[in-house]
Amino acid sequence: MRNLLIAGNWKMNQNNAETKAYFEGLSEIISEAPAGVELLLCPVYTSLAVAVETASSITGMHIGAQNLHFEDKGAYTGEITASMLSEIGVSHVLIGHSERRQYFNETDGTVNLKTKKALDANLVPVVCVGELLDERKSDTHFSVVKKQVTEGLKDVSLSNASKVVIAYEPVWAIGTGETASPDQAQEMHKFIRTELSKLYNEETADKIRILYGGSMNTGNAAELLSCSDVDGGLIGGASLKPESYAEIIDAAAKQANS
Ligand code: PEP
Repeated sequence: MRNLLIAGNWKMNQNNAETKAYFEGLSEIISEAPAGVELLLCPVYTSLAVAVETASSITGMHIGAQNLHFEDKGAYTGEITASMLSEIGVSHVLIGHSERRQYFNETDGTVNLKTKKALDANLVPVVCVGELLDERKSDTHFSVVKKQVTEGLKDVSLSNASKVVIAYEPVWAIGTGETASPDQAQEMHKFIRTELSKLYNEETADKIRILYGGSMNTGNAAELLSCSDVDGGLIGGASLKPESYAEIIDAAAKQANS
C-alpha cells in the first residue's frame, strides 16, 4: 500500500539559524520516520543546504524546494533550476502551490512544464491543486480540480506518473483555520484518483499519493489521515514548530499501523 507522506511547507519562514535549530529540536523528538510514513519539509531556498545537512540526523526525512524554473539555464533573473536543487541533495519540489498561482501568475501550463522538468531531474514533484471558495460555492470544484490535474500532468509518461505526488489543497482552507471536513476531503481525493485511473490506469492511480492540505493541524490530522484516499498532508502553519509537526507524524504513524 501507499506510504503516508507528511510534508511541511514553510513558505517564506525560517532562516538558516532557525532551520538548524528546528532540525536539532525535531531530532530530539524523533530519530526516524515511523514505519509506513515518509517525511518531507520544504524550506526557503537559502535554508535548503543547511536543511539537507541537519535533517540527515533523522532517517527518512526528505528536503524539498517550494518551486523551480522549467528551463535548464539562462536569463531568468531570480529563478533556480531543477539540477541546482538536486545537486545539493533536494529530493522533492512543490509545484503550483495556490500562492504561486495567485501571486506569481502560475498556470496549469507552467505547472505542467515544471512537473516534467522535475521528473527529468529525478525530483519528486508535489503538484498542488485545489478550488477557490467561489468555485466550491458554485459547485464547479470537481471540474476545476479535474482541469488542474489533467493539464498539470499532460504528457507525463505512464512510467513517471506513479512518482508524482498530488496535493489537494482547497484554497479556502489554506491558512484560514478552516479545514475541509474528512468527507469533503475523501470525496475529492477519490474523484482525483478516479481521474488518474482514466489518465493512466487503475494500478498507477493506486500508487499515486494524494495529500490533503489546508489548515491540517494536531487537532484534525488523525481524522483526515484516516480517510482511505488521503495519503498524507501538506502542512503550512502547523509544520513550523517541531512539536506540532512531530505530533502530526505521530497521528500518521498510528494510522499507518492501524
Ligand atoms: C500550505 O501552505 O500548503 C498550507 C496548507 O498551509 P496551512 O496548513 O497553514 O493552511
